[in-house]
Amino acid sequence: VTGGAVTGGAVSYAAVVIDPAVAALGRALHYRVPPDLSARVRVGTPVLVPLGPRVVPGYVVAFAAEAPVAGIKDIMAVREADAAVPAPLVDLADWVARYYGCSLDEALHAMLPGGGAGVRPRRELLAARVGASLGVPPGARGDAAAEAAPARRGPRQAAVLQALEALGAFAAPGAPGAPDGPAPAETWAGLGEVAARAGMAPAAARGVLARLAELGEVRLVQREVGRDPLAGRAAVATEAGPPLTPEQETAVAAVTAACAGGGGAFLLHGVTASGKTEVYMRAAATVLAQGRSAIMLVPEIALTPQTIDVFWRRFGPRLAILHSALSAGERHDQWRRARSGDATLVIGARSAAFAPVPRLGLIVVDEEHESTYKQEDAPRYHARDVALRRAAAEGAVAILGSATPSVESFHAAAAGRLTLLRLTTRIDERPLPAVTVVDMREELKAGNRSMFSRALAAAAAKRLAQNEQIILFLNRRGHSTFVLCRECGHVMRCPHCDVSLVLHAPGSLLRCHYCGFSRPAPTVCPSCKGTKIRFFGVGTQRVEEEFCRLHPGARVVRMDVDTTRRKGSHEALWRAFRDGAAQVLVGTQMVAKGLDLPSVTLVGVISADTALNLPDFRAGERTFQLLTQVAGRAGRGPLGGEVVVQTYDPGHYSIRAAQRQDYDAFYSQEIEARRELSFPPFRRLVLVQFSGGDAAATARFAGRFVDQVRRALPAGGEVLGPAPAPLARIKGRHRWQAMLRGEDVWGLTAAARGVLEAARPPAGVRAALDVDPVTML
Ligand SMILES: [Zn+2]
Ligand SMILES: [Zn+2]
Repeated sequence: VTGGAVTGGAVSYAAVVIDPAVAALGRALHYRVPPDLSARVRVGTPVLVPLGPRVVPGYVVAFAAEAPVAGIKDIMAVREADAAVPAPLVDLADWVARYYGCSLDEALHAMLPGGGAGVRPRRELLAARVGASLGVPPGARGDAAAEAAPARRGPRQAAVLQALEALGAFAAPGAPGAPDGPAPAETWAGLGEVAARAGMAPAAARGVLARLAELGEVRLVQREVGRDPLAGRAAVATEAGPPLTPEQETAVAAVTAACAGGGGAFLLHGVTASGKTEVYMRAAATVLAQGRSAIMLVPEIALTPQTIDVFWRRFGPRLAILHSALSAGERHDQWRRARSGDATLVIGARSAAFAPVPRLGLIVVDEEHESTYKQEDAPRYHARDVALRRAAAEGAVAILGSATPSVESFHAAAAGRLTLLRLTTRIDERPLPAVTVVDMREELKAGNRSMFSRALAAAAAKRLAQNEQIILFLNRRGHSTFVLCRECGHVMRCPHCDVSLVLHAPGSLLRCHYCGFSRPAPTVCPSCKGTKIRFFGVGTQRVEEEFCRLHPGARVVRMDVDTTRRKGSHEALWRAFRDGAAQVLVGTQMVAKGLDLPSVTLVGVISADTALNLPDFRAGERTFQLLTQVAGRAGRGPLGGEVVVQTYDPGHYSIRAAQRQDYDAFYSQEIEARRELSFPPFRRLVLVQFSGGDAAATARFAGRFVDQVRRALPAGGEVLGPAPAPLARIKGRHRWQAMLRGEDVWGLTAAARGVLEAARPPAGVRAALDVDPVTML
């Protein structure tokens, strides 16, 4: 099937994807386009179609000139035309489906605001008393019933009319519920206000108002109200930007020239606090001035109030935001604002790569190296790669920005597929913080068994005494990360997952971080009945506890998944630290990004090794990125700053390069390792994951897949495995995987998909494709 509009009113046929929120069919269905609808049906149009006995919502994704099947049914109606998925996004969905090996409806689902067609615009009932204070003579009130009405008024009607009068809500006579806007002299009151003033429940007040409307005493209108997460922000005079550094000038000039021309793709490599955001904002201002739209993607974790504030001050109400913490209604309304062109700058997390803005001129991917840009459920797309594809297809400019670019992106820049722009100095030429690496083996030899090295302890004491702020980083939450019986060596593990349980708060619960299983911490070993239960492995809770023990007066807050579950708690913790209510912030990678706090003068990395030892070829890259990002939180103000990194592996090239914040040194080592081991970017990967409740059946199916796919691989392709996944069991499901590797990623995906579509997996066994996987666990 191909895209394109219906021509000349000729009868034609449409491929329709049923709204994935209603039915996940995995493919498009065909319908006839009746002649009376043909002028209104385009690619992306939301329609109603028959599906068995039901009438269901769907989206037109393509047309065909001839009926592809016999007995075809008609499209019944066009739904809200302003909710149409723009045609370029339908094309993008097609690309996502083919590239990532998913179905078209899975891909289209990513294009829709959350909740699909199920979320309706919110409407508000407004009421006003007819006439009276508008100076309308009683004879003009409408009909005879209205004239006679006062005599028949009950006490509830009188109360509602009095409420309207007290609220000053008056309107000219007109048809009840007329959709026209209010005349200038009219004032309307919302149902809630009227009910409160009349002392009734809203439902009761609504009934009384309806009756009074029939009598011509009041007028009612429904008005659509936007659910706006930015509501309450004062509209401000938009700020001009600060003067640019020479490096920023060069970058802005290159990007602006591309915006005026036919587009382009850039990698903006700028050290932390070098002013990348200013470059993004100048580029956005340029395309907005051209009457085009811009999208800026940020990692979910960096979508802080601080980020939004910065953009709000520059762009004001042209801004829309899209991310997973919004309610379905808010997301729906923001999506519509972007779709209608009311908002021309969209900031959002991963899924905002699909924001339905018209005339896309710019798409920015900030912190492009972040693994959270990869979606872990179907469609398993990478927002950075979607952004590059979309920009190229729509003639827009793409900017990937990072202080620590992914190896893939830097390699693409070295090969000339991305234009490299660099910002090598911090704003105001502040020096990068000095980084001290502490060998924790030496600490042990010197008799220091504490989680704080002598260097970190001394630095912390000094900063506290000077009333400066400290960030302590550890990428592991909980209190103790494993629990062991000293007598028999038994480790408490999750009964459903192949992982050890984590202690949360001493004397409380052991929890599984993968399935949520919990049990009380044992005092007796379940294996040998011994009593020497010991807690090992430091998590953020224990860092907080230990720091408070050593510095009793210090005010400490902790920011991790456990303390930020409730809506708004992340913002509250962040404000407490920013406003100085807390001196010390302990946290996971949540604290590594987005925080720009000039009074932070010390960053302590409790263990640099948490990511280094993972069985993943990106472990070294992750470690370098995380250490560089977290170190960048220090010394952003005039007080300067220092960083202390604790490790058992001080000789590792990732740690040594992070110490000097030397990206080029890291990259030159890492790229050689990738070349030698045939990993990306030299070879492409497609990971196939198998899971099932029955271990043997899952392993057998994985083996059968590998035998078959081997014969379908493109030239130069190979298959590794099958092997148990590093996390061999999660939520009671056994996990196996196979890795396809080669230069032709389309060929690898097609081979895997072809075999899986023809295969009959045993009951309960599932297989999933992950193209360009970012995690191998
Ligand atoms: Zn034991
Ligand atoms: Zn578990």
